[in-house]
Amino acid sequence: MASALGKPGATAEADDAVDEPTHEALEATGPRRSGYVAIVGKPNVGKSTLLNALVGQKISITSRKAQTTRHRITGMRTVGATQFVFVDTPGFQTRHGNALNRSLNKTVLGAVSDVDVVVFVVEAGHFNLADAKVLDLLPRNIPVLLVANKFDLVHRRAELAPWLRSMQERHPFAEFVPMSAKNPRDIRRFFAICEKHLPEQDWLFDADTLTDKSERFMAAEMIREKLFRLTGDELPYTSTVVIDQFVEEGRLKRIAATIVVERDGHKGMVIGDKGDKLKRIGTEARQELEKLWDCKVFLELWVKVKSGWADDEARVRSFGYE
Ligand code: GDP
Ligand code: MG
Repeated sequence: MASALGKPGATAEADDAVDEPTHEALEATGPRRSGYVAIVGKPNVGKSTLLNALVGQKISITSRKAQTTRHRITGMRTVGATQFVFVDTPGFQTRHGNALNRSLNKTVLGAVSDVDVVVFVVEAGHFNLADAKVLDLLPRNIPVLLVANKFDLVHRRAELAPWLRSMQERHPFAEFVPMSAKNPRDIRRFFAICEKHLPEQDWLFDADTLTDKSERFMAAEMIREKLFRLTGDELPYTSTVVIDQFVEEGRLKRIAATIVVERDGHKGMVIGDKGDKLKRIGTEARQELEKLWDCKVFLELWVKVKSGWADDEARVRSFGYE
């Protein structure tokens, strides 16, 4: 348990006494990472509490434009070298358990399968049918972190061992995180754990500037939209767009972006015959961005194969239970 929750015997209250700044939890010197994080779970397990604690009050954005595209962003937080973008998952986050019916499943699945990490929140030591319904909808090829929340309410912590083992059988969780969403120390630890499951790529938003945030973001979204529209359903959703450069030169925006795919075969799909497909993706994205911003855009597109994080075998933390 020590590795999961700090010094054995230390109470949450003692840990809370000094609330250090969150950025101290992570090294700012590592490679930049960024990605989308969905927080899911049945009602009342503490999702909103967790989200509020993660987003903090300093940087919380809502972009009207962004919401019409890939995700509904509920907040973001840049900690050290990593940018976490928290997204809303309609049907999971805002509705009641009974709304998790068949007709909703497809929407929900779409929202959740499109993120880099899913955080599945349950109450530590509990798992019932409502939890199972949510878990059933989670994708198997995206890392799912199990947050066993309200850990402060568990008095006999050793008794959690069989529960954790049973959870492990339900899903190949990438991590087990017993924690309390109300404990700042646990929140910092959560960032450090979650970070490892986000892809190494430049931030999707500038850490401070709202305008740049959405322009950079919109560029990536636009390319992404053209990418998927022009390659049909063949291309796996794990393909992503990274903005390598975004420079303003007067009335010109110079953008370099990389489409990152998982396999060589996917690269061919994106490039197309003699580069036709890639050219079209670039042209259509550029035209739309020029319309959107009413300026000239120079867009350079690259395609890169990066096998990796999506295939990594889920690692499981034992927290000393074994
Ligand atoms: P949601 O419906 O999943 O968004 O859950 P909320 O965030 O609204 O939390 C439901 C209730 O659980 C609220 O009364 C919270 O104060 C409480 N809660 C959330 N996290 C914790 C925790 O870590 N420990 C304890 N003891 N209560 C918590
Ligand atoms: Mg809530």
